[in-house]
Amino acid sequence: MNVFSYRDGKMFQQLSEKIIPFLASSIERLGRKFRFMEVCGTHTVSFSKTGIRELLAPYVELISGPGCPVCVTDQSDMDHMIAYAREKDVIVTTFGDMMKVPGSVSTLSRERADGADVRIVYSADDAVETAKQNCNRQVVFLGVGFETTAPGIALAIQKASRERCRNFFVYSAHKLTPPAVQTLIQDAEHQIDGFLLPGHVSVMIGRKGWMFLADKHPAVIGGFEPIDLLTSIYFLARNVISGKTDIMNLYSRFVREEGNPKALDILKKTFQIIPVQWRGFGEIDNSGLAIGSSYNSYDAARMIPIQKPKTKTAKGCRCGEIVKGKEKPFQCKLFGRACTPEKPLGPCMVSSEGACSTYYYFEKDK
Ligand code: SF4
Repeated sequence: MNVFSYRDGKMFQQLSEKIIPFLASSIERLGRKFRFMEVCGTHTVSFSKTGIRELLAPYVELISGPGCPVCVTDQSDMDHMIAYAREKDVIVTTFGDMMKVPGSVSTLSRERADGADVRIVYSADDAVETAKQNCNRQVVFLGVGFETTAPGIALAIQKASRERCRNFFVYSAHKLTPPAVQTLIQDAEHQIDGFLLPGHVSVMIGRKGWMFLADKHPAVIGGFEPIDLLTSIYFLARNVISGKTDIMNLYSRFVREEGNPKALDILKKTFQIIPVQWRGFGEIDNSGLAIGSSYNSYDAARMIPIQKPKTKTAKGCRCGEIVKGKEKPFQCKLFGRACTPEKPLGPCMVSSEGACSTYYYFEKDK
């Protein structure tokens, strides 16, 4: 099957005619709706954009999880990034989606308007090039993302090292997804029947990376097309009803059992795993990637120390609860009023994969 087959309307219709009655009879047996978490921000968008969230709503409560990297970046990291932008000799380079994320007192976008040298780049490689063209300045790249993004940043660090580019630095706020899911399953208050695991992260870490869930929770690694979404929900529901706690790989067209060993090796050689702060969660053990000892002269936090800024989040912003799946965007009193994609107060409204921006664009009138 090619990607278009997974969007085939006729096939989707035929599948839903079988799956919807199954879900209806299953929730009668269960006595309530299923509660499944879509861990990944891309899944959050796909469910809403395709209307599948609405189609399934009578049977399944879909809960958005901690899979939007911008959203889970801790406020203290945002404040650090803004502090770098305020350093006279520093050029800050970043992916565009970080520009409007509010720190405690400003955003990178506002800092740039006020004269800071903040540049949007499309890859960490571009940041290395910026450093090579500005030898008398320090160029700090803001590294935000999960297992999917981190290998590209690692390669840029290795390239800078090979080319002896000494004015390139990375502020690493990279995170690993499984420890956050582990934290969720240890939370006794959370009632999650099963997890739809992120397809892209799974390409890197493989089915093997989720084995800690086996024997605990039904979980499916799923793709992002309409037929992927529907079949993932079907298998999750079926496994809940039959009591199976397998980790099913329904995205085998891209995800292997072992993941991508080459990318994992690049991560291992460049970074070291440390405990880090997540928005909403606090510190999670073994969940972050700091630059390892072989490349520590490229570590912005070590080489360009700045005074730790005092951190505070926007009053009333519920992003911390939303990324844990404890609240929905509509429960935030600021949603769609004081906080909109044009004037976001929290990262969940800034990121195109954030739950708040997704609900704002696709769910707000329902
Ligand atoms: Fe935060 Fe805005 Fe979402 Fe409310 S609507 S939780 S203020 S991002």
